[in-house]
Amino acid sequence: AHLDRMAEVDGAVHAFLHVNGEEALATARDVDERRARGEELHPLAGVPIAVKDVVVTKGQPTTAASRMLEGWVPPYDATIVERLRAAGLPILGKTNLDEFAMGSSTEHSAYGPTRNPWDLERIPGGSGGGSAAAVAAFEAPLAIGTDTGGSIRQPAAVTGSVGVKPTYGGVSRYGLIALASSLDQAGPVSRTVLDSALLHELIGGHDPRDSTSLPDPVGDLVAAAGAQDLRGLRVGVVRELGGEGYQAGVEASFTAALDLLREAGAEIVEVSCPSFASALAAYYLILPAEASSNLAKFDGMRFGLRVEPTEGPLTAERVMAATRGAGFGDEVKRRIILGTHALSAGYVDAYYGSAQQVRTLIQRDFAAAFEKADVLVSPTTPTTAFRFGEKLDDPLAMYLNDVATIPANLAGVPGISVPSGLSDDGLPVGFQALAPAREDARLYRVGAVLE
Ligand code: GLN
Repeated sequence: AHLDRMAEVDGAVHAFLHVNGEEALATARDVDERRARGEELHPLAGVPIAVKDVVVTKGQPTTAASRMLEGWVPPYDATIVERLRAAGLPILGKTNLDEFAMGSSTEHSAYGPTRNPWDLERIPGGSGGGSAAAVAAFEAPLAIGTDTGGSIRQPAAVTGSVGVKPTYGGVSRYGLIALASSLDQAGPVSRTVLDSALLHELIGGHDPRDSTSLPDPVGDLVAAAGAQDLRGLRVGVVRELGGEGYQAGVEASFTAALDLLREAGAEIVEVSCPSFASALAAYYLILPAEASSNLAKFDGMRFGLRVEPTEGPLTAERVMAATRGAGFGDEVKRRIILGTHALSAGYVDAYYGSAQQVRTLIQRDFAAAFEKADVLVSPTTPTTAFRFGEKLDDPLAMYLNDVATIPANLAGVPGISVPSGLSDDGLPVGFQALAPAREDARLYRVGAVLE
């Protein structure tokens, strides 16, 4: 049914870069047979899933939406993909994204943008716009995203889906094409909070192949998603994540959602995190710095694209320059330039160093706020889905979209975006909840009340 739906709508939506019909059907049939034999299977066995194309899949192309990796077929599976396969989830295909997960609209994909199923003239968010659009367009019931600065939560918000960024270290990063290693986390995208909880429990938990993987189990997320009771829970509204720059319809939906939490027994308090005002600036130094280092491996020798200079001597350096010049898009080049500059001798203390100090202040603000509240809440994004091209020529306007999602990545804390109805423009709005590290269960408890 999902492959049929894809055939019907994906020409317009373009959520997928690669569809894997035969293999998905074979997995589904195998699960049916095992179930008929009375085998005990995972609750998600047989439920198809779409995987963001920045997660490596053995034997299936993985491009990170870049020309640089066109035609590359990974020889191994990411840990999360291994876990999906072991539990019997048919992998429908690989979803579109902004090149190397840099962006908020999928307009930076080298293979053309994904369209928002709610309005095909609008962006589906980014970088994981393909995963969110696949779920919102009923092409897949579940998807995997990755969130470095909001790329699960922001697309979920603008497509009316649920998206979760787990605690840093809660889900293995082994087999993700790294953007910024200290910020990246993979997580679920789905249509219901319970579906995300089931998927999060499946992909989460310790992995010895990821040196930053936490030793502890992810917790009972499925039970939390079924609680429907917030008595005793203190919900902190973050003063800095609202007001100026936030669309009136987004604010109205947020306020209505707070009423629902109150009705479920939560106590609403206000908290202040002054350093969040500098989060965007710190992120757009730390991320490019780490990305410039992670992307150094795309050198025209090891994987994917190789472009030789048309004239002159064939040296390694010249092959590298020709390959990177041809293989990377403008946004990727912009960030490599920013990142190498921020790390260069003479500038590293002023740029990278001070950004790291801001990061520490953000972590302290979170710690202080979590003394006063058990979860922190805000709109996930300042606006609903914008139109194609609206922010494409203005990187700073594009970056502003991440203002509410970025603090969580800088502090490593988990966050969820849950649909909270429609804005007055008829487009979906996302409600964000953040919890202290390792307390991911609280996100599901709050999220379930808003469904
Ligand atoms: N929009 C953010 C950026 O462009 C988030 C990216 C992400 O989470 N992968 O960096």
